[in-house]
Amino acid sequence: MSKPPYIGRFAPTPSGYLHFGSLVAALASYLDARAVGGRWLLRIEDLDPPREVPGAQAAILTTLESYGFEWDGPVMRQSERHGAYAEVLQRWLNQGLAYACSCSRKQLEPYLGIYPGLCRNAGHPWADTAIRLRVPELSYQFTDRVQGPFAQHLGREVGDFVIRRRDGLYAYQLAVVIDDAAQGINAIVRGADLLDSTPRQLYLQELLGVPAPSYLHVPLITQPDGHKLGKSYRAPPLPIAQARPLLLRALRALGQAAPEELLELSPSAILQWAAQHWQPELIPRVLSRPEAQLL
Ligand code: GLU
Repeated sequence: MSKPPYIGRFAPTPSGYLHFGSLVAALASYLDARAVGGRWLLRIEDLDPPREVPGAQAAILTTLESYGFEWDGPVMRQSERHGAYAEVLQRWLNQGLAYACSCSRKQLEPYLGIYPGLCRNAGHPWADTAIRLRVPELSYQFTDRVQGPFAQHLGREVGDFVIRRRDGLYAYQLAVVIDDAAQGINAIVRGADLLDSTPRQLYLQELLGVPAPSYLHVPLITQPDGHKLGKSYRAPPLPIAQARPLLLRALRALGQAAPEELLELSPSAILQWAAQHWQPELIPRVLSRPEAQLL
């Protein structure tokens, strides 16, 4: 049997503009797809309107275009996908897999982020509460193409997690898995900050009865002081005029060859060259080099 065609994606959240860390993730997912003649889809993860920066969606598309990226087919927007999320949520509520949780933030403080199941059997009505998904007392594991084996025990290390927030917004974990399945994504390349979301997503895929994609988590880009990119630190947006040098810098952060002569080429020609020379086995697990840091 021949291998199914590669379908990858880039899925930015418009809570800000693309920064150097986003470029590294976009570039890795793009090159990994194009190197094998695969498809590369774009999905805007606009699940959280209050956190959306006005104009960010349009700026993301313009920036990607000016950096030479070409996506296949129409852009998917999660804001247009609520029907699909609601259907799955209702099914799991009916099956008793998901339940309403009325716990306040304060009540949960002592549990350090691992939900202790307080509302599991409370039978609260579903309206105006958070909805959590029951997790099994099992470890979910996978082998990341760069980070290697990774395992997490969902019961002990995560607990029943929120799939719809109290304010009615759908959670990232739920939406990302439903949409990756709907778009036929079979190869996920993204930032290592999502490594520990992956076991939850494997469990969600199991519940939905869809195959797990392959995973490649690229190393994280750090703040200029070497710290992890935090919410309080606003990474500078990617300057359109600097597309070529920043593409080279992103290639080097991914451990790839990036000869200076590439600066003579257009951004899309740089991407074409890089896809022909793509060596994912050279991607480092973590970055300690100066290129890894933000502008
Ligand atoms: N929307 C997520 C982000 O911008 C990425 C989701 C994913 O790649 O799974 O961090």
